[in-house]
Amino acid sequence: MKKNDLFTVKIEGMGNEGEGIGKVDGFPLFIKDALPGDTVSVKAVKIKKTYGYARLMEIQEASPDRTEPGCLLNRACGGCQIQALSYEKQLEFKWEKVRNQLVRIGGFTDPLVLPVIGMEEPYHYRNKAQFPFGRDRDGKNVTGFYASRTHRIIPNTDCALGVPENQQILKIILEFMDKEGIAAYEETSGEGLLRHVLIRKGFATGELMVCLVINGEEMPGIEALADSLFEIPGMTSVTLNINQKNTNVIMGEQLIPVRGKTFITDRIGPIQYQISPRSFYQVNPVQTKRLYETALEYAGLTGTENVWDLYCGIGTISLFLAQRAGKVYGVEVVPEAVADAEKNAQLNGIRNVEFYLGKAEEVLPDKYKKEGIRADVIVVDPPRKGCDAACLDTMIRMKPKRIVYVSCDSATLARDLKILCEGGYELVKVQPVDMFPQTAGIENTALLKWREEK
Ligand code: SAH
Repeated sequence: MKKNDLFTVKIEGMGNEGEGIGKVDGFPLFIKDALPGDTVSVKAVKIKKTYGYARLMEIQEASPDRTEPGCLLNRACGGCQIQALSYEKQLEFKWEKVRNQLVRIGGFTDPLVLPVIGMEEPYHYRNKAQFPFGRDRDGKNVTGFYASRTHRIIPNTDCALGVPENQQILKIILEFMDKEGIAAYEETSGEGLLRHVLIRKGFATGELMVCLVINGEEMPGIEALADSLFEIPGMTSVTLNINQKNTNVIMGEQLIPVRGKTFITDRIGPIQYQISPRSFYQVNPVQTKRLYETALEYAGLTGTENVWDLYCGIGTISLFLAQRAGKVYGVEVVPEAVADAEKNAQLNGIRNVEFYLGKAEEVLPDKYKKEGIRADVIVVDPPRKGCDAACLDTMIRMKPKRIVYVSCDSATLARDLKILCEGGYELVKVQPVDMFPQTAGIENTALLKWREEK
């Protein structure tokens, strides 16, 4: 088999990124946008030793699990991978992905993976969007989403996962750029001013935030732009974020207030949260409530426990847990997020929490060595790369009765659960929650018990 060869294949499985997998004489090919049950003609694009990649040319026979995608650009845009798959089958795919990774990477023989908690309305669920700005071939300013694995912008102001206000906001910004002659930033040359816009909406409060990321220290005409943006109902915060580095990281460190507050407020369940532009906040509020309720249930609190919430962001999970714990300690590396967390505790009149600024893998070992801290329950919710070895090691030494591991990446979750189980824990169960419908992503909450507690 070589590049550009043509084949007809029946799709029999799905890869972790949602690609269809079909075999040609036993040799597996990964095919983006092909679905199990399809028969497709494909062209080989890259052949490796034991597998290859092929491009979908034509669907000869469509899978019965195909459905009408919610967005016409779903194949070109890198944001969604499996819109064409019925939602029911999306949930099955995610369940199998989690289970397979626990078996293959985690070494568990028969892990208890509960059915995925799905959404009733799996579109327009995102409270946050980050749109890049660029120029098309004719030099016109555009915004949209990056095509899969590239930084080529697919123009689109109306993402089917986002809120309707996105379109209105983007239209205002694009018109403003044309009028004021504001150039979009270009990665290759490092020139141009406007890089990205971050838009966030509090689903419970209706509050809207717009943060413009610029390659400079000021933006000409920003007051007029703020006037137009503040005509949109719910607009609460317009800010500038300065990022003059040639990097893939979207936000820089400096925030400049422009109009209104520098944060928005939202509610999940009974708790209110203040959210700054650089603070992490779960993107799907409907599912977040279910995720946090699961985490709270798994923590098994009775009102007296000492709890550590590592990677705590703005204290979302910490405050949920504090309702039923003796004391909760949060650890977070972004200073604005820790400031938000402290504010949020106050806002809700919650006093049994304390937050520490720093890396979990430094704060926890340090406090354990110097102060001999202890925990009945440890909750972790790390970014995709999972927990650092030093953090896992200290958790094992501290021997909390329960560990609740919240994760947005099932591969690193499986890797870390293996380490914790080798250190004396037992995996009780894993609850997947579909935070990211139409994409291959899946969030999980895992419960581990110290093996003596049986
Ligand atoms: N539990 C929170 C945040 C989870 S996202 C919530 O549900 O909203 C992960 C968080 O970990 C982010 O806020 C990120 O800033 C933080 N983080 C990343 N690396 C970290 C590290 N090494 N130590 C502590 N926090 C870290």
